[in-house]
Amino acid sequence: MKLGGFCGSVVRPPGLCQLKRPRSYFTTETQNTQSFIENYDIGISSEFELMQIFPVSEGAFTVDKTKVFVPFDTATEQLSTRPAGSLLVEIQPFAVITSKDIILFDTGLGYNDAEGRFRLHQLLRQAGIDPNKVTKVLISHLHKDHAGGVSVKSSSGERFISFPYATWYVQRREFEFATGAGTASYITEDFALLEHFSRVAWLDEDEGMIDNYIRYQLTGAHSKFHQVFWVEEDGEKIFFGGDVAPQLQQMKNRFIAKYDYDGRKCMELRQQWWEQGQQEHWTFLFYHDIKTPVWDGK
Ligand SMILES: [Zn+2]
Repeated sequence: MKLGGFCGSVVRPPGLCQLKRPRSYFTTETQNTQSFIENYDIGISSEFELMQIFPVSEGAFTVDKTKVFVPFDTATEQLSTRPAGSLLVEIQPFAVITSKDIILFDTGLGYNDAEGRFRLHQLLRQAGIDPNKVTKVLISHLHKDHAGGVSVKSSSGERFISFPYATWYVQRREFEFATGAGTASYITEDFALLEHFSRVAWLDEDEGMIDNYIRYQLTGAHSKFHQVFWVEEDGEKIFFGGDVAPQLQQMKNRFIAKYDYDGRKCMELRQQWWEQGQQEHWTFLFYHDIKTPVWDGK
């Protein structure tokens, strides 16, 4: 696959991707996508046998050592105008539709739009996905650009779980660490509701299986208790490496980043996954990649 886009070009708001089937099958027009979702029977084998991937981008941002995410227009702005050392990142949760589930990987910054609507819900709707039909939310770690959208803040300041009908898969040790951490990377009030929410399936182990087709593994490395996921169905394997594997370019270059909890381990894991992923034809989801959100080796 050529660099620059699993979807040909990345569409903002969300691009639509699919595995294997001809790219022309879907257009980015919401109407077509909606009819696809309406016709899609979760749990029943349909003509869409393969997993569908939807990058749900909140946009591009720069972030520097203050850890504040500042919106960045890649069409009109120059990175050189931002403070030295600024990183340019996409903030990009993913929806993946399997034969059993609509899965969401991480929840973004969790902004409301100018009209006070929760932007992540709007973005999903634009991709033709009813937020209330999301069945699983898989959380890599609880840094604010991944867990900001765990809860929705109403105009009166009340908070609600953003996907109340989904089962949430959260690493318990990450939650406990994040709740007590008191660093600029975690905003406890964004995710505190999880503690008493009945639909949280706390993950306690270093690795394990969810419904016999999703595998999780505790990696640490980026945050102390960061975890990653593989989803495998019909011979396709999707890999979500969270912030240990956030961008395609980082998979190719050996480097140790200062912002990681254990930068050397991050580098080693990236190298290991990059080699194994190419051998086993994984599809990589890159949460912070501006150009290539999805990479499947072609
Ligand atoms: Zn992070």
